[in-house]
Amino acid sequence: MAYIIYRCDCGRVLYSKEDTKTKKCPCGKTLNVKKRRILKTAETARQATMAVQDMQEEIYGGSIFRTADQL
Ligand SMILES: [Zn+2]
Repeated sequence: MAYIIYRCDCGRVLYSKEDTKTKKCPCGKTLNVKKRRILKTAETARQATMAVQDMQEEIYGGSIFRTADQL
């Protein structure tokens, strides 16, 4: 089972299992996963989590939530 990574209209990057039909974003919007554009896929939940973090950092900048020395 693969994981897919996609974005909500609010800009958040989310992931779910490939066969997931809908996903509720923290912003309150329920997304039809099948209709989202897939940004990336991952083999494991861990890889998916890391990919989401990378993309969030690209979008928002990683320094807001943590500093490099906390890695
Ligand atoms: Zn959202």
